[in-house]
Amino acid sequence: MSTIEPLNEVRVLVTAGPTREALDPVRYLSNRSSGKMGFAVARAARDAGARVTLVSGPVTRKTPRGVWRVNVESADDMHGAVQEYLPDTDIFISVAAVADYRPEDIAANKIKKAGETMQLNLIRNPDILAQVAASENAPFTVGFAAETENVIENARAKLFHKNVDMIAANRVGADQAFDQDTNALTVLWSDGELDLPPQAKPELAKALVECIARQFRANRIKGGRG
Ligand code: C5P
Repeated sequence: MSTIEPLNEVRVLVTAGPTREALDPVRYLSNRSSGKMGFAVARAARDAGARVTLVSGPVTRKTPRGVWRVNVESADDMHGAVQEYLPDTDIFISVAAVADYRPEDIAANKIKKAGETMQLNLIRNPDILAQVAASENAPFTVGFAAETENVIENARAKLFHKNVDMIAANRVGADQAFDQDTNALTVLWSDGELDLPPQAKPELAKALVECIARQFRANRIKGGRG
């Protein structure tokens, strides 16, 4: 029986946490992501024998031992860091809750209150996951899909449109997924799916990483990317 770990020496890049999109020197747009799941995935990949780089948005979490951490703020920063590490990546796992839009302009000084209403102009951020999946020599790419409705349908659509190898779908709501200690996932790939029932995020991350490792190896055998 082999005792080699499932991701022995495989290079894994994980993104985690929220991004912050600055409005002015003191304000930003962000979301409720705590980084718990992304950090748990990084730890689980490390435990599976991988060499892990973790690109993290602003969260107050301890870096898992043995993991190389890169801190970023905005989606643009995260995009830059991911591009930098991409050539040395076999598996990319995009757990971060990346802001889809950012303010068009960042005011140089604190914005003063004026009228009763105010308008913000937002522009699209790069879709980091889709760009990685579309890149030359793309690694095995795994995305997350946080949905409030039609979870599986929307996740399958994302698998197809973003052309990624795997999507981990979860339902988010007032007390689900974001900043919680437990979660459940449905993992989807082109010709299969797996339900991971509600459990603590570290155990869930372990089960997810095992699933990723299986598909990564199956792809390699098929001669696919990864
Ligand atoms: O399309 P949606 O944002 O729901 O897709 C979620 C997945 O895409 C997550 O894996 C997230 O990390 C990634 N994403 C990204 N860049 C964005 C938006 C989402 O990498 N700008």
